[in-house]
Amino acid sequence: MSIMSDYIEEAEAVLLHTYNRYQVVFDHGEGVYLYDLEGKKYLDFVSGIAVFALGYGVKEYNDAVKAQVDKLLHTSNYYYNVPAIEAAKGIKKISGMDRVFFTNSGAEAVEGAIKTARKYGFLKDGRTDHEIIAMEHSFHGRTMGALSVTGKRAYRDAFEPMIGNIRFAEYNDIDSVKACLNDKTIAILLETVQGEGGIHPADEAFLKELRKICDERDILLILDEIQCGMGRSGEYFAWQRYGVKPDVMTVAKALGCGVPVGAFLMTEKVGQASLVAGDHGTTYGGNPLAGAAICAVLKLFEEKHVLENVREVGAYLYDVLEGIKAEHSDIIDHRGVGLMQGLEFDHPVADIINKALDKGLVLINAGTNIIRFLPSLVISKKEVDDMAAILKECM
Ligand SMILES: *Cc1c(COP(=O)(O)O)cnc(C)c1O
Repeated sequence: MSIMSDYIEEAEAVLLHTYNRYQVVFDHGEGVYLYDLEGKKYLDFVSGIAVFALGYGVKEYNDAVKAQVDKLLHTSNYYYNVPAIEAAKGIKKISGMDRVFFTNSGAEAVEGAIKTARKYGFLKDGRTDHEIIAMEHSFHGRTMGALSVTGKRAYRDAFEPMIGNIRFAEYNDIDSVKACLNDKTIAILLETVQGEGGIHPADEAFLKELRKICDERDILLILDEIQCGMGRSGEYFAWQRYGVKPDVMTVAKALGCGVPVGAFLMTEKVGQASLVAGDHGTTYGGNPLAGAAICAVLKLFEEKHVLENVREVGAYLYDVLEGIKAEHSDIIDHRGVGLMQGLEFDHPVADIINKALDKGLVLINAGTNIIRFLPSLVISKKEVDDMAAILKECM
């Protein structure tokens, strides 16, 4: 038995079986490469599911996190701490949003957004029967509230009842949204680019129409930028591509680049008319370690010109994948923005992904028939070429 298969056997004996994991134990990372326990090198096009935007082993980031570990890890939210203040200022600056609440994960950010919407509605008319419109094929996380707005029945069925008063509309179908609207509607929630659902970017006209509906009715547009945000689209947040600003926004994944952090943000108007002291809280959220990680991420995004790289290499990846699509009739669609792209096949992709892993390339699916490409945002054109060469061998 190899070292890896010993560990895998141990893992299956102790971990709850909620994942069908790939048969690999990663040990360390360097740049855009991962290494397994036996020293095999892999080109990584998943980056921990859109988390490691800056790549692995970035000295400045690691040093900043380590320095904070030695200084102060945690105090609780009953006191102020400088890293969280600086992190909030930094997120405000890149998003143009006004108020930040830090969480530990994406799902918790979505929970906060839902509570914000309900409180906003409650303060507006004193009622507690408001409805939220969410989208089919969406993904917002696995906690009960986030699950309730996730548009995948198979994830929800065994855990009913969900939180109530959620309606599902078809993504990019304005008539479907209008059919769900009524005088109880308090928010419309969607991913600016659907991730798990198969890399579907919002149509500009759809998003603009949603903004208009929300303005007319004084209801909240909530954009989930957990996967598509933090530079992945070529802008800090994907909505900035469309010029459609949300009232509430969620962010996580690449925000901490490996330290588990998330946040929900809102405009001043919503901040003044929703959650107040006593309404919401978290023990760990926005602690000094989380704040230091976010500050380091924001600083390195600027220093490394990450957005410019995403635009340039994202366009290159687009062309490369178009080329592959042209050569393979089993590829039926290619979609995406920046360094968030997907190839849809007319058959399951598990075989291709397993073969790629064998050949030292880490890829991930979105649904059964779609390969998702979510590399680190500092990836180079040369590494895109290397990826494409391996991918072609696997098809
Ligand atoms: C990953 C993801 C979440 C959930 O984030 P967790 O940190 O796993 O809780 C929510 N929304 C979107 C769009 C995501 O991609």
